[in-house]
Amino acid sequence: MSKQIAIDGPAGAGKSTIAKKLAGDLSFVYVDTGAMYRSIGLYMLKHGIDIYDKAAVEKASQNADVRLKYIDGTQHVILNGADVSKEIREEQVGKAASVVSQYGQVRSNLTALQKKLAEEENVVMDGRDIGTCVLPNATLKIYLTASAEVRGKRRFDELKAKGENPDLDTIIEDIKKRDKADMTREISPLKQADDAVLVDSSDMTIDEVVDKIKSLYA
Ligand code: C5P
Repeated sequence: MSKQIAIDGPAGAGKSTIAKKLAGDLSFVYVDTGAMYRSIGLYMLKHGIDIYDKAAVEKASQNADVRLKYIDGTQHVILNGADVSKEIREEQVGKAASVVSQYGQVRSNLTALQKKLAEEENVVMDGRDIGTCVLPNATLKIYLTASAEVRGKRRFDELKAKGENPDLDTIIEDIKKRDKADMTREISPLKQADDAVLVDSSDMTIDEVVDKIKSLYA
């Protein structure tokens, strides 16, 4: 059976950076499930579909073909044949992803795809519902979190480094709103699985978190 490390947690806790590094060190495939929800969000924005119209989103999502492709070990997200890896990182796409991820049809399609990927390869998979829903029998489950203030500051620094002029308070507010939406939605809300290990990265470096997870896995 394939080996599976599930990493869940709120936005900005460092899941993708840590999961990517861990996957590289262990020679596992990194699967970023948020990127899949972002692709569905992007599809709706591109096609002018009202993201708050559940029926319209569920219908349109049948025409959105999301695939992951690995080029030199890096995950690329392909939406109906086009590489959207960069576009899906935009702020409004993240917000759209958070809305469309509430819909059952969207979740069941992507969950099926994620389960299939994890059957075929050893994976480090990150998201919101990996330990609770997608891979309930994962070899190791981590719930990675950090305070909203620390997560906001990290995002602020990232945007600054890109030459943008962000407002820290607005970023922290957005993070809190996203947390609330992810934690209170009806289907597969973000929560720590009973058998997941809680790791708070507020005062830890990336390498410290990676080492901690490796020691838990060993
Ligand atoms: O992790 P990322 O910020 O890229 O995810 C974008 C959004 O996709 C999240 O806010 C969440 O609403 C949704 N998501 C989800 N389940 C996952 C991964 C992401 O609902 N497994």
